[in-house]
Amino acid sequence: MTTTPLPDGYYAVPDPDDPTTTTCWRVKDDSGGALAASPSGAHYGPALYKRDLPKGLRGRERGEWITAWYQTVRHPWDRKVREAIAADPEAAGLRFAEYTHHCCRCNQPLTVPASQAAGLGPDCVEIVRAKAARGAVLADSATARQRAIVDRATRTDLVPAPNGGA
Ligand SMILES: [Zn+2]
Repeated sequence: MTTTPLPDGYYAVPDPDDPTTTTCWRVKDDSGGALAASPSGAHYGPALYKRDLPKGLRGRERGEWITAWYQTVRHPWDRKVREAIAADPEAAGLRFAEYTHHCCRCNQPLTVPASQAAGLGPDCVEIVRAKAARGAVLADSATARQRAIVDRATRTDLVPAPNGGA
């Protein structure tokens, strides 16, 4: 099965099994493989512990049981997360920025309300803007989404975040 690569960046989506929990992910040079949890070392979703393994399983049987668990439990969950991000990467990026107050492109803290509303820090806004100005890969849907984010960043009617952007 091939999957469309996700644009590089940081994303947040609800846990597919528990919508009250937010899960955060980093995508870099996406090859369609497993997503990296953010921050690194974080763990989201179903986990298999040694105590969960049926007693007395050894060798190949044990390996097959573990493989089956991943195929029926973990991998479907991972796929749902990926599909949720792929359905709307811009929204998932903004959700990451809102949830963490960090830039959804470089993960630096966002200190200004306009940046928090855009989900991008000033440096990343400039990079995205420069890319758009060069007319680089305008057909690239990721670039189109980033332009939409930049447009939003330049709006002046934004309501500041409640914390004042410390
Ligand atoms: Zn940034």
